[in-house]
Amino acid sequence: MKSNRVSRRVFIGQMGIGATALFSGPSLYAALANQRPPLGVALVGLGKYSTGQLGPALKQTQYAKLRGVVTGDKAKGQQWAKDYDFPETNIYSYDTMHQLAHNPDIDIIYVVTPNGLHAQHAIAAAKAGKHVICEKPMANTVAECDAIIRACKNAKVKLSVGYRLHFDPYHKELMRLAREKDFGTFTKMSGDRGFVMNTKVWRADKKLAGGGPMMDLGVYIIHGACMAANGAGPISVTASEITKTRPDIFSDVEEGMNWTMQFADGAECTAFTSYRHGADHFKAEGAKGWIEFKEHAFTYRGMVVATSRGPLNFTPPYQQALQIDDFAQCVMNNRQSVVPGELGRRDLAILEAIYKAAQTGKSEKVIY
Ligand code: NAD
Repeated sequence: MKSNRVSRRVFIGQMGIGATALFSGPSLYAALANQRPPLGVALVGLGKYSTGQLGPALKQTQYAKLRGVVTGDKAKGQQWAKDYDFPETNIYSYDTMHQLAHNPDIDIIYVVTPNGLHAQHAIAAAKAGKHVICEKPMANTVAECDAIIRACKNAKVKLSVGYRLHFDPYHKELMRLAREKDFGTFTKMSGDRGFVMNTKVWRADKKLAGGGPMMDLGVYIIHGACMAANGAGPISVTASEITKTRPDIFSDVEEGMNWTMQFADGAECTAFTSYRHGADHFKAEGAKGWIEFKEHAFTYRGMVVATSRGPLNFTPPYQQALQIDDFAQCVMNNRQSVVPGELGRRDLAILEAIYKAAQTGKSEKVIY
């Protein structure tokens, strides 16, 4: 790893060009990235998901390593620098993120802040000439997704969404079944996802979360149903918000939502999400069989999955490690991620239609 980094410096030195001028060019990053795996990753936002999943995943990755952080808490950043063995000069604040443009240690910026800040941080990352992974939901609105996609195109950097389930064997089997139609076309889908939220945190703040459980949890069912529909998105939706039992917490977002999604081939998905019940379930049924994610349908591990042919027993991988390694390989080999920004944007288009349907009480077309 070290020798690759040294050879890059030697190469730059031989060219006789100032490092600042060189490192400000995103296309140069892309070119040089080819020469030095593992690529350097900086996590933006050191909350629960970064601490519990992404940081540990980056200890398992082969093609990417954690080499920096962006945080509002300097002391926390220093602890991460110790734990992950990177220099304190690679700790940035949200206000100094743009300075990452001059840091050759970092190739990929992974945005793990509240949803409403994803656009701001992903665009700052792209402008710094870094490749971007953005957590789900990609942003609060389709317009914000468009702005992220545009910024990454302009900077000629790659963009991916943290849709880790594309790297999970059970969900890969769902996609295979949808593609090869072993059970026929899945015409009936259902999903249920929730957890109990008892305090007002950013997830119940519309500006930071974009909405309530629909944005945070419902998006998994939307994404799973599109997998079961072989990648197609629904053409129309209906939705209704549940009556609030905790209006003190859910003052400006829904506490729960019932919704349906209709697909062009006649398939339908019926779903529910809330912050007042615990659930994690998904089922897809065709004329010749079914697959059911009985427990932990959309979580990291502990999935219990059965089909009409019997139970499935895959060895659970470290989803996030596979996801990050795949993106690093996309950068190194100049290929598009299987979970590109466009997929995150698609899901926001569906979410927007669902919120509209909940307001109008009518079936709404999804405008992609
Ligand atoms: P969290 O609240 O634990 O962490 C959020 C981080 O953002 C904290 O470090 C916080 O300090 C920082 N932050 C910066 N500005 C902030 C502000 N104005 N208000 C609040 N926090 C601010 O949240 P989390 O669970 O780590 O979620 C972060 C993102 O990751 C969300 O978009 C979430 O949807 C996503 N996530 C994805 C998965 C997955 O499986 N893919 C799982 C959990 C979370």
